[in-house]
Amino acid sequence: MTIGKIIDGKAFAATLRDKVADGVAGFVEATGRKPGLAVVLVGEDPASSVYVRSKGKMTVAAGMESFEFKRPDSIGEEDLLDLIEELNQDERVDGILVQLPLPKHIDEAAVIGAIDPAKDVDGFHVVNSGLLATGQEALVPCTPLGCIMLLKDELGDLSGLEAVVVGRSNIVGKPMAQLLLAESATVTIAHSRTRDLASVVHRADIVVAAVGRAEMVKGEWIKPGATVIDVGINRIADGEDGKSRIVGDVATAEALAHVRAITPVPGGVGPMTIAVLLRNTLVAAHARAGLAKPADL
Ligand code: NDP
Repeated sequence: MTIGKIIDGKAFAATLRDKVADGVAGFVEATGRKPGLAVVLVGEDPASSVYVRSKGKMTVAAGMESFEFKRPDSIGEEDLLDLIEELNQDERVDGILVQLPLPKHIDEAAVIGAIDPAKDVDGFHVVNSGLLATGQEALVPCTPLGCIMLLKDELGDLSGLEAVVVGRSNIVGKPMAQLLLAESATVTIAHSRTRDLASVVHRADIVVAAVGRAEMVKGEWIKPGATVIDVGINRIADGEDGKSRIVGDVATAEALAHVRAITPVPGGVGPMTIAVLLRNTLVAAHARAGLAKPADL
């Protein structure tokens, strides 16, 4: 039995961060200032706090300026919108990221909609999703852009390949499908109402699982030789020592017997997200300065 390849997202992300750092050095030389990323965190959610801290560290490690704005859960929507407007106007800030989810009393769409699309490094603003959907230059959501980079690195030309994206969120599934379409793949988007998901997935040369259900996609669903990108991050209790562990949306051990290649969880898509965020910030900085982005980004 042949075993598929494990795609090393961690190594790919490290290489991408190095390229970003080189690009940052060039930007500083050309403009005399560092690109800046502002991250807004509302509330005390421990996972979000860890994520924001790690974004800040990697931003600085890439040679960029990191600005962090922590606000209490109790902040009103107007005050948050005022902060966004300040950051829109701040010349040192090239990228604005509002850590989601926001507290229930704040309208997420209104907050994302208030970000200057030129600084929307998460690519969630409707202007950027519209540009992506119409095949124009856009700031593209980090996770799906990271997935497409891994796919192109593994497969080269995606043109004509059958791709199935499981999940239709605005953050992952929909932009993922748009990116695959832009690469001329034949794209199906599956979701919770899809009938006979197993046979839909079995058609695919490329499977992207972005569901949020531990090991839902079974090995036998995968067409032999398909490439699988597992976006899911699910914490499950591990029976043996009572500790928990992180698994993806795909039953990786089973899938390995069927795939050409698969991203592991952890160590696959996860590390790509922050690396692409840094890349998007550098791209936004170039665009704001009227410079062409580095060719290898
Ligand atoms: P959402 O919960 O927003 O979307 C999940 C999608 O999965 C929905 O479209 C839903 O369908 C679909 N779905 C749910 N159940 C089923 C089912 N039984 N069969 C088929 N489809 C189903 O999640 P996100 O897109 O935000 O995230 C997906 C996963 O990716 C999560 O595990 C998340 O933690 C992870 N993630 C990882 C990132 C990373 O950096 N690696 C970044 C972002 C997310 P419907 O629309 O019909 O409800």
